[in-house]
Amino acid sequence: MNLSFSALNRVEIVRRMAEQPLDLLVIGGGITGAGIAWDASVRGMRTGLVEMNDFASGTSSRSTKLVHGGLRYLKQGEVKLVMEVGRERALLHQNAPHIVIPAPMLLPIYEGGTYGYWASSIGLYVYDLLAGVKRSERRRMFGKEQTMRMEPLLKTDKLKGSGYYYEYRTDDARLTVEILKSAHAHGAHIVNYAKAEEFLYDDSGKVIGVKVRERLSGKTYDIYAKKIVNAAGPWVDQVRSRDGSLHGKKLLLTKGVHLVVDYRRLPVKQAAYFDVPDGRMIFVIPRDGKTYIGTTDTVYKGPIEDPRTTKQDLDYLINAVNAAFPAVRLKAEDVESSWSGLRPLIFEEGKGPSEISRKDEIFVSNSGLITIAGGKLTGFRKMAEKVVDLAAKQLQAETGRTFPPCATDKEIISGGDRGGYATFDEYKRELLRQGQSIGLGDRLPAYLLSLYGANVVHIYQYFATMEETPRDPEEAALRAEIAYCAEHEMAVSAVDFLLRRTGMLLFDRYRAERIIEPVVRFMGERLGWDAADTERERGLVLSELEKATQFPDLQDR
Ligand code: FAD
Repeated sequence: MNLSFSALNRVEIVRRMAEQPLDLLVIGGGITGAGIAWDASVRGMRTGLVEMNDFASGTSSRSTKLVHGGLRYLKQGEVKLVMEVGRERALLHQNAPHIVIPAPMLLPIYEGGTYGYWASSIGLYVYDLLAGVKRSERRRMFGKEQTMRMEPLLKTDKLKGSGYYYEYRTDDARLTVEILKSAHAHGAHIVNYAKAEEFLYDDSGKVIGVKVRERLSGKTYDIYAKKIVNAAGPWVDQVRSRDGSLHGKKLLLTKGVHLVVDYRRLPVKQAAYFDVPDGRMIFVIPRDGKTYIGTTDTVYKGPIEDPRTTKQDLDYLINAVNAAFPAVRLKAEDVESSWSGLRPLIFEEGKGPSEISRKDEIFVSNSGLITIAGGKLTGFRKMAEKVVDLAAKQLQAETGRTFPPCATDKEIISGGDRGGYATFDEYKRELLRQGQSIGLGDRLPAYLLSLYGANVVHIYQYFATMEETPRDPEEAALRAEIAYCAEHEMAVSAVDFLLRRTGMLLFDRYRAERIIEPVVRFMGERLGWDAADTERERGLVLSELEKATQFPDLQDR
């Protein structure tokens, strides 16, 4: 029987992976690796995944958090890609309605700007057709007056009008964890804080396994697999070089940062995508009482594990916002939090960071290591399909076993249970009522539902069975939420909880600061921490807070 996806089962999960050879082992627990493990396990492969830090701790928690419809691909003439990502977006909304949510977007059009009025009108129209956008979400075009009513904060000089279309918002780290939970439900063995350190080969030089270090105990395990997939995002080339196969195409890492300010400091009526003075375009996106701003795109040469938001990045984005929304007069002190991520792009000679294609590519080394590089969060399911199709074909040729075609398009993603967005709203109302009926009030069930979707029922169960009198619902709900994240989402540290399971450290930083003590106490109770563990965890949260709120002056990063 598959063990529950609990932090307490990690060592046993690694041990089981090592016990019997897998069909497919994935290195990397970002969205790419998660998607591959999900697809392979749905097809019935004995699947494993190792992630060296926490799930989604690389690029997959540091994106703009949009499931793109592919508008920019249209501009580059990539018609097939627009159709593909349009379909992917609709599927994700259908299968994960709790975390893939429509977000109307305003595209202001200025004289001399990136998009002209008629080009935008035709472009968005063609885009709606190609991407199969549903009728209620098709583009609208506004003149100057109406654009000013839609967004009174916009600069009016040279404003010609705007386009209004739909993007979809998500939470990248939560989406990754939900996909991993879906893979786990299909029997995949998945573990975080377990690093692939070395490859194991047979006499002919074929890769047959990986030496994995379980980082909390320091113990290593030899895990054997018929197929090994390198889905290490920005670390893809490091993993290839350990296989001695870093030839041909290589990665180019570019850094993108985002800033979070209180919504009252940048009260945009809807998300907007607009020109900045250097000719690029950036987003401002309202979310949960905050507005976030991003992103930058600069070539990055610093340490992969620690991209920082620098003073230069901060100034760039603040100036960009103030140029587009002159009355706002944003200052550095308004920034409550930030994150910084690395795009693992495939290097193309002679192209600047923003011109390089976001397409994915698969490389197979002489040893048989399959590497997937490039791509976008939005396309993760299709990327996984391509990788698993390849692995299935090779497995059939080598072993005679056959596997069914990809079926993840028909799978409800963990938390989205209840068959699609059309019925999900009604189910949500029922879940809200359930939460109220056990004493959680109005706000807490809504908050929990926005993160965990239908899985909120497990949190309700923890809450309802907690023996504490008198009970502070706020504290008891936090305790129940932590219990769920530790025992059903493999949250191992307080940072996993505050940053990647809840996003609180980014979108509710002051609450995150206030609740450090109860968080480390409740996690410690669940995971058996001693005083030294608790002290270390406190320190890790403070250091993460510092990274999100301090902006060093680093010219080259
Ligand atoms: P990662 O998420 O980095 O995962 C790789 C994982 O491999 C890491 O967790 C790492 O710890 C692990 N790993 C590495 N080495 C080892 C090892 N030896 N052993 C075990 N594990 C290992 N895409 C969109 O669709 N929409 C957007 O709005 C969007 N915005 C973006 C904005 C920015 C600023 C950036 C940087 C990217 C954005 N993207 C967006 C792109 C998207 O975020 C990435 O394509 C995607 O997250 C990459 O996921 P990944 O799994 O390949 O890499």
